[in-house]
Amino acid sequence: MDATPARTLGVTRRVDRLGRVVIPAELRRRLHIAEGDIVDIQVVDDCVVISRVETGCVFCGDAEVAHLHQDRTVCQACVDVIKAL
Ligand SMILES: [Zn+2]
Repeated sequence: MDATPARTLGVTRRVDRLGRVVIPAELRRRLHIAEGDIVDIQVVDDCVVISRVETGCVFCGDAEVAHLHQDRTVCQACVDVIKAL
């Protein structure tokens, strides 16, 4: 038996008929999840884990991403700046 209590926000949500659940606004703000963001959904130890997916360059935010390095996206302009350092 696990001695560590589960982390809870004290918030419950009902799943609708399409399987949707609203992520509480406080959590969206805290985790910087905004409308239109892409999220990754995984099952970890029988729990659903939702994580925001970075879709632009991690340095400048440019949407034109040229490289993926260690699960992070980087644009060519930032790669060129880093190479010049
Ligand atoms: Zn960039």
